[in-house]
Amino acid sequence: AKSTYDVVVVGAGGAGFAAAIEAKNTGASVVMLEKMPTVGGNSLISGAEMNAARNWVQPKLGILDDSAERHAQDTYIGGDKKGDLEVIRTMTGNALSAAKWARDYIGVRFEPDNLFMFGGHTRKRALIPYGQTGTEFITKLYAKANELKIPVITNMKAVELIKDASGRVVGVKATMNGQNYEFDAKGGVVLATGGFGHNAAMVKKYDPSLDERFKSTDSPSATGEALYMAERAGAELVNMQYIQTYPICDPVSGSIELIADARFDGAILINQKGQRFVEELGRRDVISHAILAQPGSYCWVLWNDKIGNISKTVEAHPDEYSVFTKTGTMKTCGDLKCIAEFTKIPYSNLKATIDRVDSMTGPGNDKDFHNRGGLVDMSQGKYYVVKAVPSIHHTMGGIRINPKSQALDKNGKVIPGLYAAGEVTGVTHGTNRLGGNAYADILVFGRIAGEGAAWDALSLG
Ligand code: ADP
Repeated sequence: AKSTYDVVVVGAGGAGFAAAIEAKNTGASVVMLEKMPTVGGNSLISGAEMNAARNWVQPKLGILDDSAERHAQDTYIGGDKKGDLEVIRTMTGNALSAAKWARDYIGVRFEPDNLFMFGGHTRKRALIPYGQTGTEFITKLYAKANELKIPVITNMKAVELIKDASGRVVGVKATMNGQNYEFDAKGGVVLATGGFGHNAAMVKKYDPSLDERFKSTDSPSATGEALYMAERAGAELVNMQYIQTYPICDPVSGSIELIADARFDGAILINQKGQRFVEELGRRDVISHAILAQPGSYCWVLWNDKIGNISKTVEAHPDEYSVFTKTGTMKTCGDLKCIAEFTKIPYSNLKATIDRVDSMTGPGNDKDFHNRGGLVDMSQGKYYVVKAVPSIHHTMGGIRINPKSQALDKNGKVIPGLYAAGEVTGVTHGTNRLGGNAYADILVFGRIAGEGAAWDALSLG
């Protein structure tokens, strides 16, 4: 079966929805193809915090000196200068308008007076969606796509890009239940197919150190075949060896422990001896490596109510709380003795660590590991402790794009008709994606790609 649209969007995660909605509102006819039975991809299970410098919450927290350029530099330096600075600046310069678009047009609700400060950032700038997961974004984006009457075809897997004699991408071949389909695109195809963090063989191929010891935080959809589809159509894949582990994940399932995001408000990381061993707000790669170097290659995340009353992660993630408590990954205690018993950390060590933390509270006072958010008084309970290991989380590499979200070939030339946005792209985050940058990335470049492909369709007539 064959059908024709102005724009074909492959993948119904955050980037795909942003692209399809923007394409439609530019005046194009659009279809979305999704290989899974449900929409959302990794964007759905993400914590979904979104960095935007000069956002509306920052003044409430007294943060008045942030800027898009500061955000760009944090991103560039946080990725060891392996990202493309012009692409990065495009992301940081458009993040605030994308966040306002999400808030005012899509209807995404954000926590009104808190922000997260993820590792590697020099300012607190991550907006927090209600529920602290991507559900808030994806349900609202999906509802908007429905309202705009954009067909979203699930169980439809794109398998090949179609090019015409001039080299322009003019459609995709796809399959559903063994049947072949063809979707022609007058303007262009937007690849928004996500990363490959759930494809263990592919991960190991590009970074042999990430072997069988590692589980993945990612959605089963993140298997990356579309990267090879793009490569066959001439796109250059770059930075594929840069694969991020998320340091704080469930040892049982490999899933990210969103409940342990209390770290962003002062939770500490300790090893089996009860000692701190790394800056809790350091880069993800740095913390991951530090955890792997501890006895047993795991750590404990410990916080108390004073921290929990700010981060509210227990309230935000009741499912994690009950599952982790049931499986013995997590424990809630009235005092430190109980924490020591549960974790089997010697009580005297634990007490010494907490006393030391209490002697160094407040910004700039952590003489041991320089926690950039500042330590918090932990003398009083309740206490929460959760066991954590690193797990494969984000694949920084992918299709080389320019600031217009156009896919480039090996010679740096635009492949006409081919756009890419989100985790499938490879030049935004360099060696290491900073927390809160994925949602900025997917919304900004999704919108740019969708508008670009729509404009191509309209101008080609
Ligand atoms: P991003 O954050 O970049 O938007 P996500 O992981 O959230 O990435 O979304 C990517 C989506 O693309 C997933 O829902 C995934 O199932 C879908 N997808 C991946 N490959 C294909 C393909 N070949 N055809 C159709 N959909 C795909």
